[in-house]
Parts: sequence; C-alpha cells; structure tokens
Amino acid sequence: MRARHLAVAVCLLGLLCVPAHAETRDISRDTLPANDGWAAAAGGTTGGATADDAHVHTVTDRAGLVRALDGGSDTPKIIKIAGTIDANTDDDGNRLDCTDYATDGYSLKKYLAAYDPRTWGSAKPSGPQEEARQASAARQADRVELAVGSNTTIVGLGGPGNAAVLKGASLQLKDADNVIVRNLDLRDAYDCFPVWQPNTGGLGDWKTAYDNIWLRGATHIWIDHVTLSDKGHPDDREPTYFGRNYLRHDGLLDITNASDLVTVSWSRFAGHDKAMLIGNSDSATSDRGKLRVTLHHNEFTSVVQRAPRVRFGQVHLYNNRYAVPDGTPFRYSLGVGTESALYAENNAFTTPGHVEAADLVKSWNGTALHQSGTLFNGYPVDLLAIHNAYNSAGERDLTADVGWRPTLHTKIDSAVRADREVARGAGAGRIP
Ligand code: CA
Repeated sequence: MRARHLAVAVCLLGLLCVPAHAETRDISRDTLPANDGWAAAAGGTTGGATADDAHVHTVTDRAGLVRALDGGSDTPKIIKIAGTIDANTDDDGNRLDCTDYATDGYSLKKYLAAYDPRTWGSAKPSGPQEEARQASAARQADRVELAVGSNTTIVGLGGPGNAAVLKGASLQLKDADNVIVRNLDLRDAYDCFPVWQPNTGGLGDWKTAYDNIWLRGATHIWIDHVTLSDKGHPDDREPTYFGRNYLRHDGLLDITNASDLVTVSWSRFAGHDKAMLIGNSDSATSDRGKLRVTLHHNEFTSVVQRAPRVRFGQVHLYNNRYAVPDGTPFRYSLGVGTESALYAENNAFTTPGHVEAADLVKSWNGTALHQSGTLFNGYPVDLLAIHNAYNSAGERDLTADVGWRPTLHTKIDSAVRADREVARGAGAGRIP
C-alpha cells in the first residue's frame, strides 16, 4: 500500500503519470482538430481514420512498409511504424550502400574528371559518366522513393527516447488528398548520386534528389510531431567539388506544384541546409491561390536557410522557435519570394553574435511581409522595419500588407511561452 500511495503522489506532481512500460496512447485514428490551420479548411483532414481492420498495419521493415503503402492507393489505411526502418535495403532487408546502386561503370572519381568545368566547360553533363550516374540514381530512387496515397495515416510508435525512425526514405505525396504523418523521426534522405549543374547560380552547383517529405499537388495534409534531419550524414562534413559544397540532401519538407491546405505543427527541423521550400519556381503561376500552409509550434535548429522560403502561398507562421547554435552555418530563416504572403506572428529567434536580426529575413522578388510579436534573443524586434533599413543590394523594401489575415488557427501564445513549450514538446516521441 505504501508503494501504491507513493506512485499516486508522484503522479499528482505530474512527474511520472505513466508506468515505465505502458503503451503510449493510440494516436492512429486521431484527426486534425477543427480550426487547426489551413489543413482544417474545406472538410478538414482525417487521413486513414476510417480504415477497416484489414487496412491497419504495423510495419517493422521496408518490405512491410511498401506492402502497407499499397503503391500509393487511395484506400483508407493506417500504417504504424515500429522501431527503425531503413529504406536503403533490399527485399530481404539487407543494407544497400552507394556502391550497391552504382552501375554501368559510374564512379565519382571518373564523374569529376569528366565534368571538371576547367576542361568540360559549362555545358550540361552528357556522355557515359552522366548516363551511368542517371542509371545508378534510378536504382536508388527505386528503393528510397515511397509513394503515399490519399486517405492515409502514417504514425510512428514510441515515445520519448524511442520514437520510430524511417531513415533514407523520401515520402512522396503526389496528388494525394487527406494524409496525416505523425510521431515519426525521418532522417537522412541521402542521395548517392548528386548531379553537377554548371549553370545554377553563376558558379554552378550540385543538385541532390531527395526531400524527406515532398508534397506535389497534395491537399489536406497534416504533418505533426515529426523530426526531420540529416542525422547520420551531416552535410557540413561533405567535401567541396568544383568549388561548391557536395550536399547530399535536398529539402526536409518541400511543398510544391499547387499543393494546398497544409498544417505542419509541433515538428522539429534540425541540422540541415535547405529546410522547407513552399513553391519551387517563380514561373509556376498555377501555384497562385494555392500553397496555403500553416506552420505552428515547430522548431528550426541548426538550419542554414529556407525556414521556410515561400512563393505564391498564404503562409501563417506562428509560435515557432528558431535556434542557431554557436558555430553553425546560417544564411537566413524567412525567404520572401514571388507573390508570397507570409503572415508571421509571435516567433522566437535565438542566435549567436554573428547572426543579426537583419539576417533573418531575405526577400527575392517578394513585396510584403506581415510580422508581429517577434522575439530576437529575448527582445522584441520589428523584422519588417529592420529588413527595410538594412536590406542588401537587389532586395527591395517590403510592405506590411500581405492581403489576408489568418482565421484558421489554435491559440496563439506569446513568443516567450511558445519558445519554451516548443523546446520541450516539438518532434517525434513527444505527443502528449
Ligand atoms: Ca526538393
């Protein structure tokens, strides 16, 4: 009796209300709460909540996950991921590395020799090594690109310290409607075969293939309590070839091709260069009126740029936490692109001395930014006024009128409170 009383007392203090080996709450049939961001519009987002028992799967390896995804079918389905699944495995679960995918004589050494700008010039790579690279890349894509269809819920099992992990995969939500992804650690969507693009950005650049999650023409999507990172292969340890970083990862979560009605909440974007692209081309005018995204209570830590970079979309960004630890590379957080309408409220930024408030916003052809309640290293700042006072050559002044005001949102806290709660509660394994 004594021990039992003690347990009750501990619970009342809020320290240990769940026995050590208890199952965590079953979240697999949860649906997006009413008014919780853009994904709550026009019918809301329910994922696979109506799945019958035959379409509820618990998977522990790539082969099981692929079977459960059913080729991206629209059948309502719930997929629970247990433990760690590595997408770079064969059908028997054996690990595949880059040399296993390489074919037709591809080698990085030969590729670099073939397309060195000093001898090859600035033409697009072509010939045997580029063809071999494409054939090799197709073999990897066949393993790591996983199509997710409509009416699907994917949830990781596991709580603090043992969240389910999906590594090496690129979840591809193409033309899918009504999808939920929660409580999952998605890491290291590593490209074995980056392509050299001589005409990118004046100096040329390496282009990598995979985003951890890629939404193309996807609607009613709720991403919640996921952790997205390069964990395992940090890009800052990759070498430089042709004077440019040989990055192995593309975006963590890219939202493109007229995707619409997306809510990303309580998620963690960590240790990555280009975190989130919303709209991938100034000329993609079919994105006009789409790309409506809500981002709230997310953490962006050690992210170099694109948190997010926006074109066209009405994006509500509130109660997010940005951290730039000392010594980590940084370019900017909020990218204000063509026809973007970013409405930023009560976000907190914590940065080391070499990052200034003027560095947080970068405009490319954007015209407006709403921001209010911003906190910078504990002090209130007006990001708009600072941007307009200190913007660099080629950037234009922004107005405060983005032409819309968000109505679909949950409670908006102060930046101080959000910063604290997001640090404690964002990411996989932390659903309360
Ligand atoms: Ca991408």
